[in-house]
Amino acid sequence: MKILVINCGSSSLKYQLIDIEKEDVLCKGLAERIGIEGSRVVHEPTGMEKVTIEEAMPDHKKAIEIVLNSVAHPEYGVIKSMDEIAAVGHRVVHGGEVFNDSTLLTDEVMDKARECIDLAPLHNPANIMGIEACKELMPDTPMVGVFDTAFHQTMPAVNYIYAIPYEYYEKYAIRRYGFHGTSHKYVTERAADILGIDLDKINLITCHLGNGSSITCIEGGKSRNTTMGLTPLEGLVMGTRCGDIDPAIIPFIGRKENLDYDGVDNMMNKESGVYGVSGISSDFRDLEDAAKEGNERAKLSLDMFESKVKKYIGAYMTEIDHTDAIVFTAGIGENSISMRESICKSLEHMGIKIDPEKNNVRGKECIVSADDSPIKILVIPTNEELMIAKDTMNLVK
Ligand code: AMP
Repeated sequence: MKILVINCGSSSLKYQLIDIEKEDVLCKGLAERIGIEGSRVVHEPTGMEKVTIEEAMPDHKKAIEIVLNSVAHPEYGVIKSMDEIAAVGHRVVHGGEVFNDSTLLTDEVMDKARECIDLAPLHNPANIMGIEACKELMPDTPMVGVFDTAFHQTMPAVNYIYAIPYEYYEKYAIRRYGFHGTSHKYVTERAADILGIDLDKINLITCHLGNGSSITCIEGGKSRNTTMGLTPLEGLVMGTRCGDIDPAIIPFIGRKENLDYDGVDNMMNKESGVYGVSGISSDFRDLEDAAKEGNERAKLSLDMFESKVKKYIGAYMTEIDHTDAIVFTAGIGENSISMRESICKSLEHMGIKIDPEKNNVRGKECIVSADDSPIKILVIPTNEELMIAKDTMNLVK
């Protein structure tokens, strides 16, 4: 069965065509600058040269049309006809409280998905545009929505209610939702497999450390707590997002700098994090290089990131009766040997003992803890597309 996975942003669209039985990626690609001059699709068929198609893409429908043509192209396509696509799995950022699992996107479900736009005004509209365009172009192909928030819907109220007047939860659904759910779910399933522990028995702390970062406390294979909140701004120090700060800073800076709510929101999302502190870059490779050359603020930003990760690992271990493993995933978690080592080093007294030699790996599934470490440490490259494809297959089979 071949599943097309689509991740639609406001001006870009990532796709993968996956043969789900073999778990093979047949092709992948990126449509860029949708609605902007200079739009193009970079199409990468597995085992063949990549192709760049430069063509005007005024909207998502045109982008998806080009993607479908590329996928089934006589020269650089990987299937003979679009009919070979059994279903399309769409990543949707926010599923509110309505979606606690992936779901078939019927007209009724689409109406409910539109109701979630209020909660993610920057992301959900683009996701929905992509689904609508696909539905128009492939009216007979089933569409499935896979929500970033769905995996975290198992959190207990004690972890999702904010200590503000309860009426705001009732009136506006303000609560912790959490994000990166597809990634946390994928690495949880892989960890259970690798460690040979039943999924409903496994307790983990999963650390998705990338440009956006979040940590989840997994109890019995389910999300019990997670660091991101109503939006992806809460929790860890990130590439350009501030994570947890004293909320009183918001009106304070607003008054001092004459910024309105959107201005402060933009500052916290785009000008903060390790970028804001270092003043150099949001990319950890640049920061590690600068810190090595003696740049104090680059070092400070990395130390702050590390400190917050440790704080949440420790805090989440108090929520579960035992911890089977700490899992590292995403760009930094999979690739930064030094960050993994410095996070784990000072957690040895908590039973988390890293083996520096085993830890000398990038982007490969492996156990990096010492043999006598009571709590295992795993590196598991995330694969959100495969998770989306699997969920899609399960719903259409
Ligand atoms: P992601 O959002 O998961 O794609 O992660 C992207 C981030 O991973 C980049 O911004 C880098 O900071 C980080 N990253 C990728 N490769 C490395 C590496 N070799 N060492 C340190 N950080 C890395």
